[in-house]
Amino acid sequence: MGKAIKRIGVLTSGGDAPGMNAAIRAIVRTCSYHEIECMGIFRGFQGLLDGDFEVLGPRDVNYIINKGGTILKTARCKDFRNPEGRKLAYNNLKSAEIDALIVIGGDGSFTGAMVLSKEFDIPVMGIPGTIDNDIHGTSHTIGFDTALNTVVDAVDKIRDTASSHKRLFFVEVMGRDAGHIALNAGIGAGAEEILIPEENMGLERLLDSLKKSKKSGKSSSIVLVAEGERIGKNVFELGEYVEENLPEYEVRVSVLGHMQRGGAPSCFDRVLASRLSVKAVESLLEGKSNFMVGLLNDQVALTPLEQAVKGHSPIDKELLRVSDIITI
Ligand code: ATP
Repeated sequence: MGKAIKRIGVLTSGGDAPGMNAAIRAIVRTCSYHEIECMGIFRGFQGLLDGDFEVLGPRDVNYIINKGGTILKTARCKDFRNPEGRKLAYNNLKSAEIDALIVIGGDGSFTGAMVLSKEFDIPVMGIPGTIDNDIHGTSHTIGFDTALNTVVDAVDKIRDTASSHKRLFFVEVMGRDAGHIALNAGIGAGAEEILIPEENMGLERLLDSLKKSKKSGKSSSIVLVAEGERIGKNVFELGEYVEENLPEYEVRVSVLGHMQRGGAPSCFDRVLASRLSVKAVESLLEGKSNFMVGLLNDQVALTPLEQAVKGHSPIDKELLRVSDIITI
C-alpha cells in the first residue's frame, strides 16, 4: 500500500456532460466524510499545468447536483501530451500536496491520467463522464441518460410539426464514433430509421424503407442520424438525395448540436455520478490506483484504465432489430 492519502485532486476533462457536477459534489463530500481534503482543479489538465486549484468543502458544492456543465470547467490541453507538460503538472500537484487524482472525462482524459500515473507514481482513478456512452467497462457513462432524454424531447417536438405537414425529417444527433445516442433515442422517439457509425445501412435500403413507410400510411417520418454514420453523406446531402429519389417526400433537416450536452442531469445520471464517485474516493483510500469506476450489471465495478481506454463499448445489435420491428 502507498502512503496515506490526505488530499485528493479532482478535475473534469474533455467534453462536458450533465452529471459532472453531481460527481464533483459526491467526491468532495466523500472526502469530507473520510476526513481528508479535496482540491478542485480548474479547466482539466490545463489547470494542472497552471496550478489553478482551490480547496473545496462540502458547502462549496451546495446546489450543484441539479446543474448541467461543470463548475470546475473543462478543457483540452495540448501541453499535457508532452513529458515536459506532465512534469510541470506533477510539480504543481506536489507543491499543492495533492496525493491522488480523480479524472472525470472520456478515454482521452483517462489516457492522460494513466501516463501521468506511470511517469510519477501518483495514484489515479477515472470516472466516465461523456454523453457518448462509448467507454469500455461501464454500461452507462455520466451524461448519457440526460442526453437521451434531451434528444427524445427534441424529436417529440419535431414529430409534432413533421406530422402536421406530413414531412420527413432527418435529425442529426451527436456520436462521431458511437451510435448509442442515435440508437437508444431513436427507439425512444419512434424514429423510422436510425443511421449509426457501427452499421452501414446503404442508400438503397434507406430508400426502400422510406418507400414502405409511406405506403403503410404514416403521416410523418423521422430518420435519426448519428454524426459519424457510415453511408458517407452528411445529413443535408442525405436529405437532398432522398428528396431527389423519393419526390413523394417533403424533406427537412434538423441538427440538434450542442443542446445535447446541456441541461439539468436526469435522476439516473445524478445517482450514477454519486455512486461512482463514492467508490472512486474509497478505492483510492484503499490503496487502489489506475482504475475506472463504472457500472456493470447495475453494480459499481472497477476496470483497469488500460482496458477502459483500449475498448469501446459496442452497441447492442438487438436494439436495431427491435427498432425495425416496432416501426413497421
Ligand atoms: P470526450 O470523449 O468528451 O472527447 P476525452 O477525455 O476523450 O473526452 P480528449 O480531448 O480526447 O477528450 O482528451 C482530453 C485531454 O486529455 C486532452 O486534451 C489531453 O490533455 C489529455 N490527453 C488525451 N490523450 C492523451 C495522451 N495520449 N497523453 C497525454 N494526455 C492526453
